Parts: sequence; C-alpha cells; structure tokens
Amino acid sequence: MTAPRTAKPRTEGPTMPRLDRRRFTGTLLAAVAATGAAALIPALGRQRALVIGGGPAGATAALALRQARPDTEVVLIERDPGRLGPAAPGDGFAKPGAGIGLAELRAAGVEVLLDEVTGIAWAGLRAALFSGRSLAFDRLLLAPGTAPVAEPIAGLDARARHLWPAAWGSTREARRLRAQLGALPETGRVVLRLPAELPGHPDIALSRALALSGWLGKHRPQARLTVLDGGSDPALARRFAMLTAARGDRIATDWRIAPQGGTVLRLDAGRGLIETSQGPLRADVVNFVPPQQAGRIAQIAGLADASGWCPCTETGRSVRQPAALILGDARRGALRTVAGAVHSARSARL
Ligand SMILES: Cc1cc2nc3c(=O)[nH]c(=O)nc-3n(C[C@H](O)[C@H](O)[C@H](O)COP(=O)(O)OP(=O)(O)OC[C@H]3O[C@@H](n4cnc5c(N)ncnc54)[C@H](O)[C@@H]3O)c2cc1C
Repeated sequence: MTAPRTAKPRTEGPTMPRLDRRRFTGTLLAAVAATGAAALIPALGRQRALVIGGGPAGATAALALRQARPDTEVVLIERDPGRLGPAAPGDGFAKPGAGIGLAELRAAGVEVLLDEVTGIAWAGLRAALFSGRSLAFDRLLLAPGTAPVAEPIAGLDARARHLWPAAWGSTREARRLRAQLGALPETGRVVLRLPAELPGHPDIALSRALALSGWLGKHRPQARLTVLDGGSDPALARRFAMLTAARGDRIATDWRIAPQGGTVLRLDAGRGLIETSQGPLRADVVNFVPPQQAGRIAQIAGLADASGWCPCTETGRSVRQPAALILGDARRGALRTVAGAVHSARSARL
C-alpha cells in the first residue's frame, strides 16, 4: 500500500509557531480575513511561481505562465499600484505601463499582491515582503526593471533626489516633476541632467529632452532649457536640434556634452545651484536622471553581476541562480523598450 501523498508544508509569515492543524487553519483564515490577502493561503501540493514586477515583462509573463501551466499558482508582486492602473499620460515624463491591468490579471487567475519584495532566501526558496510577510515559492520570475545607481557627487543626497526628481520610472516622481514645472517662473531655467551612460536608453533621454522643450514651448515660451549631458558624443544633441527645428520649438536651449561642461561636479539642491566642469549654473527646476542598473531586488538577491545587470541565457535562465528567470530591462544586454520586455517574457522558458 502506498502512503498518502502529504503536501509540502509551506509556512507563511516571518515566524511559524507550532500549531495543530485546526488552530493553524483558523489562524490562517483570520489573517486572510484581516488582510484580504487571499494569495497568502498556501496552495497545497501546487507549484507556486512568484513574479516580481508588474511592468510589461512581469505582467506578460504572469499571463503566459497561467496559460502554459494552469496548475501553477502564479503570484505577481508589484509595489507601485499606479503601474497596474490605466496607462500613464503619454507626456514623456511617465514610463509606459504594461497595458495589462489588475482586472485582466485577476481574471486570468493571477494573484496580485501590492507589496515590495525586500529579500530572497535561496536556501529555503522564500521571499520576504516589505509588509513583513514571507512567501514560499518554487520558481521565481524576476522583472524589476531598473533602479538608479548611487553617484559620488557632493550634495546629491536623499533631499536633493527628492527636490530634483529623476522621474525615470516612478509615477510619483513624474507627478512631482510636472508639479514643479507648473510652478516655474516665466523666464525660469529648467535643467535636464543626463548621465554619461544610460544603457539602452538614448531614445528615451531624447524624448525626455523633447518633452521638456515641448512643455516649455506651450506653457513658458520665455523659459530656458539646459541639458547637462555627461556623455561625450554630440549625436543626441544633433538629433534634438533637428527634431525641435522640424517641430518649430522656439525655446532657448543649451545642450552641453561633457567637454562643454555637461558633467556635474557638485550641487546644492536647496539653493538650485549646480557646479559643472565649466562653472556654476542656477536652475529653477532640475530633472536629475542618474545612471541605471537592474532593480534593487536583483542586486539584493545576488542575481546581478559587476555590471549591475543580470546575466542570463536567451530563454531567461539566470546564470547565477537556476531557480530564477530574468525578464525585461533587468537583463544584461536588454533592449530596454516595451517591445523588448514583452518579447523577453514571451520567449522565456516558462
Ligand atoms: C521615462 C521613460 C520613458 C519610456 N518610454 C518608452 C517608450 O515610449 N517606448 C518604449 O518602448 N519604452 C519606453 N521606456 C522603456 C520601457 O518603459 C521599459 O523598457 C519597460 O517598461 C521595461 O519593462 P520591465 O517590465 O522590464 O520593467 P518595468 O516596466 O520597469 O517594470 C518593473 C516593475 O517592477 C516593480 N518592482 C521593482 N522592484 C520591485 C520589488 N522589489 N517588489 C515589487 N515590485 C517591484 C516596479 O515598481 C515596476 O513597476 C521608457 C522608460 C522610461 C524610464
């Protein structure tokens, strides 16, 4: 006679005191009722895949996985509720969304948690969440996009990053930047800072410059735009000049690449001062874009290499951790476009 199949115990929560089955079930249901977190009920005997990130890569992969493996419980964790809502305004300050909303994910049977993954324990295959919960998984699909790299620039602290938002993926920062532009004096100066390296993102940098020029042309025609471009290649500045001329923009723009003072040496965000390699500059609004690397959780989980990006095979298998699939912008060598992110999810070995 074969022994009955026993489900793998999958504890949830930071600590798991010894409980008998009845008390365990009661406690769990009470916790679920209190939090509304149906996704935290362990799916006994089923494989659980965690998808980190609800951008184009993560949301596409979650749907594809539900289709390819209906027996797998798919839990998608996204920290920014705005990313799963309707598409952000197409004004060049917001990152495009997945085009796949909460309702579509839930209708497909994907459990969605609005939370942040703060750590991964590979030994026990568990993810720690910002809310204090801990979630067991069998497979991990990592699609956290990009995150800023810290730069050793004097004065560039948390306050400066708040006052001079990057708006490079954060819906909150994009809102803050729009509000700051709204308060710009008629003859004020806007500075767009671009780092020397923005892998895969030159077109996005160009669209940001065009978005700022377009906004100023419409709302503050007497204002000035200065682009501090840490790179040494004038190609982007030339494309900007061509496109704004074709569009008829009349905003006074000064695009400085590194040899012309495009490098930021130190700053005082409270006073609106920037010290460049060619002298000081005063600004009313600063859109300070830092260099990027794979999202922070990729660094914490040990999935990124010295480049800051996640090495993986063509089908997404992490070369550093076989239980993980890497999707979207976080991949080393990714295209870093929506189409590229969607393709990485569709071509991954799910
Ligand atoms: C300002 C800007 C404008 C752009 N415009 C265009 C454009 O016009 N056309 C185009 O093709 N591409 C554009 N791009 C690039 C495009 O947005 C990206 O290539 C694409 O979004 C990448 O998809 P992704 O799913 O890999 O990552 P993302 O879209 O960045 O999604 C990652 C998600 O993971 C979440 N996340 C990260 N860490 C955690 C965690 N620990 N726990 C929970 N959630 C987490 C984030 O909140 C985020 O929603 C733009 C990018 C930027 C920055």
